[in-house]
Amino acid sequence: MNYQNIQFSLFFLCEDQFVLVTNSWCSNWNFAIAMSANGVQDVFHKAKVILLDIEGTTTPIDFVTKTLFPYVSENIASYLEANWSSEEIQHVINELRKQAECDTEEGLKNVPMIKSFVDSKDDALPDVVANVHWQMSLNRKTTSLKKLQGFMWKDAYESGLIKGVVYDDVIPVLEKLKIKGKRIYIYSSGSVQAQKLLFGHLENGNLLPLLDGHFDTTTGSKKQSNSYLKIAKKVIVDPGEVLFLTDVEYEADAAREAGFHVFIVVRPGNKPLANADQYITIETFKDLVAQ
Ligand SMILES: [Mg+2]
Repeated sequence: MNYQNIQFSLFFLCEDQFVLVTNSWCSNWNFAIAMSANGVQDVFHKAKVILLDIEGTTTPIDFVTKTLFPYVSENIASYLEANWSSEEIQHVINELRKQAECDTEEGLKNVPMIKSFVDSKDDALPDVVANVHWQMSLNRKTTSLKKLQGFMWKDAYESGLIKGVVYDDVIPVLEKLKIKGKRIYIYSSGSVQAQKLLFGHLENGNLLPLLDGHFDTTTGSKKQSNSYLKIAKKVIVDPGEVLFLTDVEYEADAAREAGFHVFIVVRPGNKPLANADQYITIETFKDLVAQ
């Protein structure tokens, strides 16, 4: 954990923990939670709920780009071949077709179009493959693409072709947190279904029994403090009783604005922090239970 950058200028006692006011942070915040030597432990002991981000926090930030996306790119043709006649796949293909028409009408260039249902699978399947590859090359997040990707990932997790990944410290520490009576929730921009697939099909076990619940962007954007207030309300605690762990500063800012405690998790490959001195950083969950 990193205390080096914490700037001490004025302490006062607030709700039996030290709070630090700095000279330089006042533009955005009039105060920042300060860490005494035992600050991490102070916050940890007070937190009834631990709220976890996924990418860059529990899981390598490139899991999606290096595992999930390549799986879809490489297997889309064979997946469609095997599942072409299923009702849900035909439905999503129709949505992809409408999306392609929409994209063309809106002026996007070289949109791979998808032939209509009256055409044979042999005609239309390569169209769908081309459209999916094109959308993914542009890193698009259309509803139809996400739905098809979701079907493929579910299939791959359940058949063992994809394994979820968490850092080695995650499961042992979460087990200790449960013993200490903490409730553990996930808040990720990935859907609740995707979260459950990932944590339920890990290389090294199943995290789901340790989790008390899941939140995704249906609760609200991770950039907005109101989303965090909603989560506190749903899990029936005061915002000050939640410790949020994330790798992203704008999420940390929003959560702190809502009154949450926040530590930023610094994992290999994470983006550098622009304002590292505003938060306690930890490199491993072990720091939470070190003492
Ligand atoms: Mg993250």
